Formats: sequence, structure tokens, C-alpha cells
Amino acid sequence: MTTSVHKNFIAGEWVEGATVGFNTNPSDTTDVVGAYARADATQTAQAIDAAWDAKAVWARCTAEQRSDALDRIGTELLARRDELGQLLSREEGKTLAEGIGEAARAGRIFRFFAGEVLRASGERLPSIRPGVDVEVTREPEGVVGIITPWNFPLAIPAWKIAPALAFGNTVVFKPADLVPGSAWALAEIIARAGALPAGVFNLVMGPGSKVGHAIASSRKVRAISFTGSVETGRGIGVTCLQRGAKVQLEMGGKNPLVILNDADLDTAVSVAIQGSFYSTGQRCTGSSRLIVEESIHDAFVEAMTARMATLRVDHALKEGTDIGPVASQEQLEQDCRYIETAIAEGAKRVAGGQLLTRDTAGYYLSPALFTQTQNDMRINREEVFGPVASVIRVKDYEEAVSVANDTDFGLSSGICTTSLKYAADFKRRSSAGMVMVNVATAGVDYHAPFGGRKGSSYGPREQGSYAREFYTSVKTAYTLS
Ligand code: NAD
Repeated sequence: MTTSVHKNFIAGEWVEGATVGFNTNPSDTTDVVGAYARADATQTAQAIDAAWDAKAVWARCTAEQRSDALDRIGTELLARRDELGQLLSREEGKTLAEGIGEAARAGRIFRFFAGEVLRASGERLPSIRPGVDVEVTREPEGVVGIITPWNFPLAIPAWKIAPALAFGNTVVFKPADLVPGSAWALAEIIARAGALPAGVFNLVMGPGSKVGHAIASSRKVRAISFTGSVETGRGIGVTCLQRGAKVQLEMGGKNPLVILNDADLDTAVSVAIQGSFYSTGQRCTGSSRLIVEESIHDAFVEAMTARMATLRVDHALKEGTDIGPVASQEQLEQDCRYIETAIAEGAKRVAGGQLLTRDTAGYYLSPALFTQTQNDMRINREEVFGPVASVIRVKDYEEAVSVANDTDFGLSSGICTTSLKYAADFKRRSSAGMVMVNVATAGVDYHAPFGGRKGSSYGPREQGSYAREFYTSVKTAYTLS
């Protein structure tokens, strides 16, 4: 066990927290990953002050300086992807391949935004008045608070921190309490490889109720980018609105995957398995409602259960593991509660949903598939956030579209079909922010806009060139020449 405490990073210094927390490995609960500082509200205020004091310096840095800093961070993340991926998998429980992939993605995001810094542009408009010039420019918001969930402990922080820094903002970053290890490793690289002026980037680990709340309610934090649950997100949204701060919320999903009669069965099963169960189903974009047309229903369920039987659930770092453990005891209990609820509501469990014993003590759950479910059951209305999927049988394409859109969420949706007509129609009529045809609902590109509609997201899109909408403030200037 590591005894040295990983500290918070404030005003360019590594500092002890108010208390210390430990994170454990969900694949082996006897394995303590490390000890991490936990801030309180007072220390969080110090981090916010540091970011406030540094904002003029960072906003004045040249675009090239900012670009170089992000490029160095991205390059180091990519070079250390194996080691960082291992830490991530040990801490969060996704498989090693998934962990390494996520570390690499974080690196590529920083490199993408290193380029975006240099592509920042403004506009010049003709005025309606003679002799007047109109210029539209974008400026940094100032101090940005970044609050992230546990399921993508490197990629989500990267896709918020990189654009925040790229567009000249200073950052106070609060990672999820469950996964401080990956966040700390990322912060260490940013602090060192980025060679940023003191206070430009600050890390404050600790509980959401104290650290997150202090960030969300500070009048010095001009913008908050949050990813996490609906309940927390809405609370932060209200706090920000009350004090007039900008806010971006990425929250839950209940993503539909439609499977039409004309789908290629193999493709449909691969897409459903990947979308529903990989990363242990702990993805906001995961497919949890499989909406299947009548005449392919039985063949699909049979092929799904056959493929599910081949999936190996085991230690995240073990070779051959397809699906790692659930991330925590709390999440496992939530998954089990939903499995019991589904059964009580009359759904038929055709595969999985069982606690598993492996060589090490971890939170192992076999992926679960339910049939005979209706769209108004709780299992189809609420986000489980685990390896649990349900099949909803529909009579035709029209019913499939209607069921797919009948949800309070709207993050991602998918369709498996060989018909161009239905694919095009579904892309048009889906009420989700992201639509997939013959590819999994989860798994997106880092240079394309990411976000949803309805209860899933609030505020401008994340990622790609769309990120600048949130991380900059528009100024319109009129000059009489
Ligand atoms: P969570 O809401 O419990 O926590 C998210 C973050 O908010 C954590 O850092 C937490 O410490 C902090 N927090 C908690 N209470 C707070 C408060 N009162 N004030 C300020 N901050 C507070 O979410 P989680 O359990 O870490 O993550 C799982 C959720 O995240 C799921 O609902 C999932 O769908 C969602 N998610 C959404 C996306 C997306 O892009 N839409 C991506 C990944 C995860």
C-alpha cells in the first residue's frame, strides 16, 4: 500500500488537504490504490483565489504559449498511456484495453485543443451606420470550475480542462471522490509538462458536498462544467443560475437502440453487446433499451444470450477479461436493486444479473438481459448505470421510433438496419443529441460535438470546435473610424 499522500495542487504548490481518503481496487477490494488529500471549503476557496489571481496572466499569454503547453501535456499522456491506463483500470474497474484507450484519448484531446488555440477566430461585420466598424471577438470567461464523475476519470476531465485552458481560462478541477488516482496523475502531468504559471490550473480532491458545492457557489467562478448525475447536475444548475454564472451540465441517459427486421443479426448483436455491457455498462451513452421489431425478436434474443455467455467477467487487469467489475459497492447495490425491481415489475430475466465469485474479492456482476419489458417500467425509465439491458418488443418501425423517443432523456440513440430509408428517417426523427447507425450508442469521436437533449444535457455542447461556445464569452465592439 502507498503511504505517501497525494496532495492537492493549489497556486503552483502541492499542499496537504484537510483530511485524507483512500481509494480501493473494485477488482480486488484488499488492494488499496493510494492515499489522497481531501480538501474542505476553506481550501477550495484558496484554490479559487489562486485561479482568480492568475486569470489575467494566462489570458495574456500568447496563443502559441498556450498551444505548446497543451501539446506537451497531450504528448506525455500519450507516451504514458499504458501506465496511466493500468492505474485507471485498477482504480475504476474498466478493462486494461479500455483504460489504455481512455488514457490515449485524453492525450489526443489535449493535442486537438493545442491546435484549436491557434484556430481561434473573430468576425468583422458591416455596420448599418457609415464610418463604423463592428468587431466580434471571444474572450476567456475567467475562472472555470470543472466537476467530473467517476466513470471516465481521465477522458472527461481532459475534454473539459483542455478547452478551458486553450481558450485562456484558469481552472479549479474537482474529480469524483471514488477515482482521485487518475485525476491526480493527470494533474501532475498538467502541472509539470504544461509549465503553466502558478494558479492557472488547480486540483482540489474531496467530497462533492463540500468541495463541489464550494466551487459551484463561489462568485469568483464564472463558469461551471459538470458531468454526473441528474440530481447533482440540476442542483448545481440552480446554484449557478441564482448567481448568474454560466453552466454546462452533462447528465444521465436511457439510450435506445432500435433493431429492425432487416438488420444484419451479427452486427446488431455486436452493437448491442458493446453498447450495453462494455465498460460494465457504466457509460452515460450506453444502450439500456433494446427496441426490437417483432419478427427478429426471438432470433435476436437467442443470439444475444449466446454471445453474452461467452463474455468473461473478471479482474480488470487480467488478460482475457471482457467486462471488469462494477466500480463500487454502492453502484453494485444500485444495479442489484434495479434487477430486483425489473423482476418485480414482471420482466423476464433471460441472462445474467448474478453476483460472481472470482479469485479476488471484487464487485463482479454478470451482464443482465431482460425481455417482456414495457417502456413504462422503471427499468426502462430510470438510468441503472450498470451492465443491465432490457428488450422492448415492437410491431414495426413507427412504434420503434415512438418508443425510442418516449423518454425523459436524450443523450444518444442508435438503429441497426440495412435500409438507407429507415436510417435516414431515424437520424431525422430521433430526439437524442447523438444518433448512431449500425454502431454502438456509446463510443464517440473526440473532435465532434458531444451532448444531448431533454434531461440529459443543459448548455452548449462539449468537445470539438463546439467547445469554444462554453469556454469563451462573446464581445461586440463598435469603432467610429
Ligand atoms: P454524481 O452526480 O454523484 O457526481 C458527479 C460529481 O459531482 C462528483 O465529482 C461529485 O463529487 C460531485 N458532486 C456531488 N455532489 C455535489 C454537490 N452538491 N455540489 C457539487 N458537486 C457535487 O455522479 P457520479 O455518480 O460520479 O457519475 C455517474 C453519473 O454521471 C451517471 O448519472 C452518468 O450518466 C453521468 N455521466 C454523464 C455523462 C454525460 O456526458 N452525459 C458522462 C459520464 C457520466
